[in-house]
Amino acid sequence: MNEYDSSKMVDMMCTKRNMQLTKDPSEADLILLNTCSIREKPQEKVFHQLGRWKPLKKKKPELIIGVGGCVASQEGENIIKRAPYVDIVFGPQTLHRLPKMYDDAVKTNLPSIDTSFPKIEKFSKFPDAININPSAFVSIMEGCSKFCSFCVVPNTRGLEVSRPPEQILNEIKKLADRGVREINLLGQNVNAYRAKDFHGIKLCLADLLHLVADIDGVDRIRFTTSHPLQFTDDLINSFENRKLANYLHLPVQSGSDRILKLMERKHKVERYIDRIEKLRSIRPDISISSDFIVGFPGETDADFEETIDLINKIGFDQSYSFIFSPRPNTPAADMVDDVPYEEKLSRLNKLQALISQNSNKISQSMIGTKQSVLVEKQSKKNTDQLAGRTENNRWVNFDGPHDLIGSFVNLSVTEALPNSLRARLIN
Ligand code: SAM
Ligand code: SF4
Repeated sequence: MNEYDSSKMVDMMCTKRNMQLTKDPSEADLILLNTCSIREKPQEKVFHQLGRWKPLKKKKPELIIGVGGCVASQEGENIIKRAPYVDIVFGPQTLHRLPKMYDDAVKTNLPSIDTSFPKIEKFSKFPDAININPSAFVSIMEGCSKFCSFCVVPNTRGLEVSRPPEQILNEIKKLADRGVREINLLGQNVNAYRAKDFHGIKLCLADLLHLVADIDGVDRIRFTTSHPLQFTDDLINSFENRKLANYLHLPVQSGSDRILKLMERKHKVERYIDRIEKLRSIRPDISISSDFIVGFPGETDADFEETIDLINKIGFDQSYSFIFSPRPNTPAADMVDDVPYEEKLSRLNKLQALISQNSNKISQSMIGTKQSVLVEKQSKKNTDQLAGRTENNRWVNFDGPHDLIGSFVNLSVTEALPNSLRARLIN
């Protein structure tokens, strides 16, 4: 989500203020920091990074420094109090106002702060994307109304709002006309997507997926992230369409009903298992990944073992896992947290080792198989090679001519490495 937002900031400033990107901060007239406050660590990094840029501002007083994203939304003018050399503070919902905020900061020499939540106006203000890849993100909804007890997102990104379908389809058609072949529909909870079309007909994510799949040139679709609660039968049935990648990221957080209740996830473990079983009746070999929080306040050994049991039952592929981080203004931050940090770390290590073992097994089982891969770019390590992703989200490197970038190829997997695969071109 932040990657997508950052690319929109670049599009806005390059298109509307004729700026160019530089990788050298000492050359810049404007430096923007997009931030995340989902856990404490990324939030602290914000102030360290700002401190590193402070001397640049001393050397070049006309330099404008802006902070966007969820830390900006959460902290507002506190950012300026703690780092007075910052000129602009904007939230995830006001990044389209950046050019005007930049002009104001230059003209007045005063800080420009706007972290409000205007109702989804930003998408109609974005210019066409400047840089595109064969695979593109397209945001379909914003914010979250689930209020899990540990999470800052409803406070920092606002409540769920869905983009009108025509606007989304239009953006995707334009991307497809420019050669984009894979679309990744984005939102904090894409399956909460609810919007009326031009004729007043209500659409949900399953309806939107059908419309996206009908667009000429779009050959692979992904969506992220989903919540098990609104993972409906309709959405599961959408996987009958082979344009949907054979991969699903469906965060579960914990395998213990007691902890899920404390997390206010609003479903039980059984619901999660039932959703995956139904999905596997349509796609038996689909890869499932998840997010896990370990060491939630009050998590016992027995609760944690239930998470381990769930991992063994589902056979999760590459997943994300975090130690619980208390966040401001969330109910979980006030819960009694009596699990020692060393214990949390040891649980995290055990969980991550098990997930790696599963995902390595999946990678090994792919050796000798044929995989359809969208070629996205030159390989990082060897510029004679190409790199693309399999349906189950693994990077594959292989020898091939550069004019294949942007097309789908069939590859035979020859080797499974810890973070990627190697393969041979079949056609
Ligand atoms: N909407 C998605 C869902 O419901 O699963 C998740 C979005 S959240 C931005 C991404 C992940 O960050 C969560 O799934 C959770 O595992 C992790 N996360 C959120 N708050 C956290 C916290 N306070 N401490 C540790 N991890 C957290
Ligand atoms: Fe945060 Fe996801 Fe829960 Fe929303 S559903 S509050 S984004 S963890």
